[in-house]
Amino acid sequence: MKKKVVIIGGGYGGIRAAHALSKYNEFEITLMDTRPYHYLQTDVYDFIANKSTITDISVSLVTLFFGGKVNFLQRKITKIVPNENKLITNFNEELSFDYFVLAIGSRTYFPSFIEGLSEHAHGVKSIKRAFEFKQKFEEAIYKKVESEGVCELNPDFNVVIGGGGLSGVEVAAAMAEYSQRFFAMGGYACGGIAVHLIEASESILPGVDQYLVRKSRQRLEELGVNMIVGDKILKVDEHSVHLGSGKSVPMNFMIWTGGVEVRRIESDGFTYNPRGQLKIDEFSRVEGFANIFAIGDCAQVVNTKGKTLAPTAMVAEFGADIAAYNIAATEQKKTLKKIEFDLPGMLVALGGFYTAGVIYGIRLSGIFGFLAKKAVSHIYKWPLTRKCKKSLVKSCNN
Ligand SMILES: Cc1cc2nc3c(=O)[nH]c(=O)nc-3n(C[C@H](O)[C@H](O)[C@H](O)COP(=O)(O)OP(=O)(O)OC[C@H]3O[C@@H](n4cnc5c(N)ncnc54)[C@H](O)[C@@H]3O)c2cc1C
Repeated sequence: MKKKVVIIGGGYGGIRAAHALSKYNEFEITLMDTRPYHYLQTDVYDFIANKSTITDISVSLVTLFFGGKVNFLQRKITKIVPNENKLITNFNEELSFDYFVLAIGSRTYFPSFIEGLSEHAHGVKSIKRAFEFKQKFEEAIYKKVESEGVCELNPDFNVVIGGGGLSGVEVAAAMAEYSQRFFAMGGYACGGIAVHLIEASESILPGVDQYLVRKSRQRLEELGVNMIVGDKILKVDEHSVHLGSGKSVPMNFMIWTGGVEVRRIESDGFTYNPRGQLKIDEFSRVEGFANIFAIGDCAQVVNTKGKTLAPTAMVAEFGADIAAYNIAATEQKKTLKKIEFDLPGMLVALGGFYTAGVIYGIRLSGIFGFLAKKAVSHIYKWPLTRKCKKSLVKSCNN
C-alpha cells in the first residue's frame, strides 16, 4: 500500500516538494491550499508597475496537478494532530497522513505597537491586496491626469512604503519608475507621484551585500524616491506617517513591507522561534517529529554552517528538495540529507529595465541584471504553465 504524503501550501516550496515526491512510486501525494492558484510574489513589482496582469503572477494549481500523480484540494488546514497523524480542514474533514510537509509561507506582519498601521497600510503578500493597491495607485494617477489644467490645486499624491528590505525597495522602485514614465509619455506637466521609502535601520536592504545596497540607493535617488533611513514609524493616521524623529510624512496611500509572520495552525507539540517560524532539525523535520517536515518561510532554516537563511523562494525550493529526499530516504531506510545549501546571491529589480544583482560573487546591474532576473523568473514559470496547458488538453480529450 502506498504511503500518504500530505503537503500544505501550494507556493514555491509546496509545489517543488510535490513534484520531487511524484518521482517516487511509493507515495500517494495530496497538496492542499486555501487558494486555487500559486501566487508568484517574486514578480509582483511588475504587476504593480502595470507591466503584467494577474495571470502573469499566478499559476492555476487545479490544472497544474490535473490528471497527474498529485491530488490537489482547495482546503484550509485548521488543525494538526501530529501524534495521531491527522489533520482537520475547514470543511471539518479529518485526513490521515504518513508524512506531512508544512509549506504555508508567511503573511505581512503589522506590529500592534505601531498605532494605526494595520488600519491604514496595505501588504503585498496576497494577490488580492496587491490588486487592490494597484487599483488605488491607478486611480491616483488618473486623478492627476484629470487635474492637469489646474495642477497647482492638486497636491502631490504621496505613497509611503514602510520597510526598506527587498520587497519594499522593489515596490518603491517599480512605482516611482512607472509614475515617471507614465507622465512623461503623455507629455503631462503636473509631475508624478511622490514615493517615500522609510527604513528603521541605518541603511536600506539591511544585511544585504554592500554592492546591492549602493546600486539600489543610486537607482532610487535617480527615480526621485525620498529615502528616510534610521527613523522608526511610530504612528500612522489617515493622512500622515509619524516618525520617531518627530517628523511626519504626508500619506495618501501606504504599503507596509516591514515584516512577515507565520500563520499559526492549531497543533500540539510544535516549537516556534520568536518570529513564529517552526523550529526544524538539520533534516528539515519539525523538531520532535520524524514524519513531519517544514519548509520555506514558515520554517527557521539553519544550514550545516550554522547560518540562518533569509526566507526567500530559493530557500523554500532548496528545502523542498531536502524534505522530499528525506521522506523517500526514511521510507527506504537510507541516510538522510542535511541542510547544506546556501543562497547563491540576490537580484533586486529596480524599476524599468534595471536590476542589480550578485550571483556567485558576480556583480550585475542595469539591463544585464534585468535580463538575468527575467531569465530566472521565466525558467521558474515556463515549466509550470507548460504543464497546465498539457493538463487542459488532457482534460478536453477526456
Ligand atoms: C514583493 C516581494 C518580492 C520578493 N522577491 C523575492 C525574490 O526576488 N527572490 C526570492 O527568492 N524571494 C522573494 N520574495 C520572497 C518569496 O516570495 C517567499 O520567500 C516565498 O514565497 C516563500 O515560499 P513558500 O513556499 O514558503 O510560501 P508561499 O509561496 O507564500 O506559499 C504558501 C502557500 O501556503 C498557503 N497556505 C497558508 N496557510 C494555509 C493553510 N492553513 N491551509 C492551506 N494552505 C495554506 C498559501 O495560500 C500559499 O499559497 C519576495 C516576496 C515579496 C512579498
